Amino acid sequence: MYLIYILITIGTAALMEFIAWAAHKYVMHGFLWSWHEDHHKPHTVEGFFQKNDLFFLVFAIPSATFYIVGSAVEGLFPLFFVGVGISIYGLIYFLIHDVYIHQRFKWFKQLDNRYSRAILKAHGAHHAKQGKEECESFGLLVVDKKFFKHKADK
Ligand SMILES: [Zn+2]
Ligand SMILES: [Zn+2]
Repeated sequence: MYLIYILITIGTAALMEFIAWAAHKYVMHGFLWSWHEDHHKPHTVEGFFQKNDLFFLVFAIPSATFYIVGSAVEGLFPLFFVGVGISIYGLIYFLIHDVYIHQRFKWFKQLDNRYSRAILKAHGAHHAKQGKEECESFGLLVVDKKFFKHKADK
């Protein structure tokens, strides 16, 4: 029985990469561009927080809903682990995107391997454009294979 909970958690976290990709492409670069825009123009913004951080609160809502429904409704306990999966993905997103890529905290700077370099390049390509329309690489962990080329350069 525990195995199914683990599978639900991992499956949800994996699915979140796709949901986050779609949200980034169609929502953040769509009708909520006004919240995401400052993340693409980092030098104009003062202080630690960005408007873009509001998306952490937005993604906390479905997660909290699954926690509440899963623990309060008889027979829906497996949904609790959908909430856990969303939280785990959120934590991974924060650690990779905000800490490792954007260095909001000076942790894991020494991390350097083929995959981590590909993540940096792919997200760097996303930030290469400051506009709403012309960006690429909306995902975070699933990286196009073109970013794995040129092993030698960083
Ligand atoms: Zn973006
Ligand atoms: Zn970014």
